[in-house]
Amino acid sequence: MSDVVVAKFGGSSLADSEQFQKVRNIVFGNDKRRYVVPSAPGKRFKKDYKITDLLYLCYEHAKNEISFEDVFKHIEERYKTLALELNVDVDIQSHLEEIKLKIEEGASADYTASRGEYLNGLILAAFLNYEFVDAAEVIKFKHFGTLDMAATEIAVRERLKNIDKAVIPGFYGAIDGKIKTFSRGGSDITGAIIARCTNAELYENWTDVSGFLMADPNIVANPKSIENVTYKELRELSYMGAKVLHEESIFPVRDVGIPINIRNTNRPEDKGTFIVDEQRVQAYGDTITGIAGKKDFVVIAIQKMLMNLEQGFCRKLLTILESNGVSFENMPAGIDSVSLVIEECQVGDKLEIILEEIKRQCNPDTIDVHPNMALIATVGKGMNRTKGVATKIFKSLSEAEVNVRMINQGSSEINVIIGVENEDFENAYRAIYSAFVK
Ligand code: ADP
Ligand code: ASP
Ligand code: MG
Repeated sequence: MSDVVVAKFGGSSLADSEQFQKVRNIVFGNDKRRYVVPSAPGKRFKKDYKITDLLYLCYEHAKNEISFEDVFKHIEERYKTLALELNVDVDIQSHLEEIKLKIEEGASADYTASRGEYLNGLILAAFLNYEFVDAAEVIKFKHFGTLDMAATEIAVRERLKNIDKAVIPGFYGAIDGKIKTFSRGGSDITGAIIARCTNAELYENWTDVSGFLMADPNIVANPKSIENVTYKELRELSYMGAKVLHEESIFPVRDVGIPINIRNTNRPEDKGTFIVDEQRVQAYGDTITGIAGKKDFVVIAIQKMLMNLEQGFCRKLLTILESNGVSFENMPAGIDSVSLVIEECQVGDKLEIILEEIKRQCNPDTIDVHPNMALIATVGKGMNRTKGVATKIFKSLSEAEVNVRMINQGSSEINVIIGVENEDFENAYRAIYSAFVK
């Protein structure tokens, strides 16, 4: 491990010049914070726009040959105000002109969206007096679009070898010189990659909450924060909707043992959450670590007598999904029944064709479709050692008069997933939280 802390700052931490000042105080508060990864400016207030959303909108307008002038003006104004108020020596006007021209000329969605981080990186580097290193030079993708970790490690190490302090924008990289982004929220992944490639002792992820909370603060008021969480639990929670950290950001750091610390830019005195190896979490204490959930699933429930004896039944089902380019979330099964739980956005307009193919190839007795379903995962490392967790969950749901439509326990035994109707989602979520947190 080297004397390096990588600090990633999210959109709300860099939304205006006041936030930039907080970021500078944090960075300068520890000499080890040598590599800084910024997101694009986020919302300054609840109804504000994120720069990334505005950039995608510009791209969509340009693609459909609609003027994006007005949208681009908002973007220009945000960056110009930042550069002016922070008094940095960056020729923001000419960068903006170049970007606008490229969008007009048909630049890709990835290029367009990546400019949010690019411009913010230029401003932050000047403000901190750190070197600017373009992520396009060091974050490498493979031809089919996934990260090329081996090539990235070589490029980052080579580029940063003689640079003591640098700002590397998050969210994007390149493939053969063409800009490519991660999925939304992907600056978290860039931060983790830079931490790995610089052998950092710590990856700090600075955001607008004091760590990973036991529940989504948009659903439960003032949820308790989690002091320590294992990579495994975090993956379950973030995959199931706790979007504070991108679900893929643990992979670069987990196998090299770099802890992640989620911190609050607006309350730097708070310790935040540490994401660590299992070995480093001493006591399990509470029976659950947290709750997460997502709405908008469709469940296809299939029944067939003696299904258990029919070899290849599930293979046929999954092949039908695969050939339609649909991935599934869960597949709870009984002796003569099986359900496919799929995100509605995955199914799109393919539902009819999938149902037809299931009928034709699998010849089921019945096939029912349940749309508008939500999943809630209750996650906890201590769950498989503690009696009564499931009882608590189901008792709380029954008291809240929520109809549980589906139950599934992951084989890792650190989560219980229940399915409820979309309209019961918040009620069920709060009921489970209150059962564990008094
Ligand atoms: P950033 O812009 O810093 O990357 P994000 O908006 O991506 O921040 O993530 C932080 C937000 O995640 C919080 O403001 C909160 O609304 C939301 N969130 C959802 N679930 C949780 C959770 N379990 N713990 C903390 N925050 C959560
Ligand atoms: N700015 C990008 C987004 O809004 C990436 C990030 O914030 O991590 O998705
Ligand atoms: Mg984020």
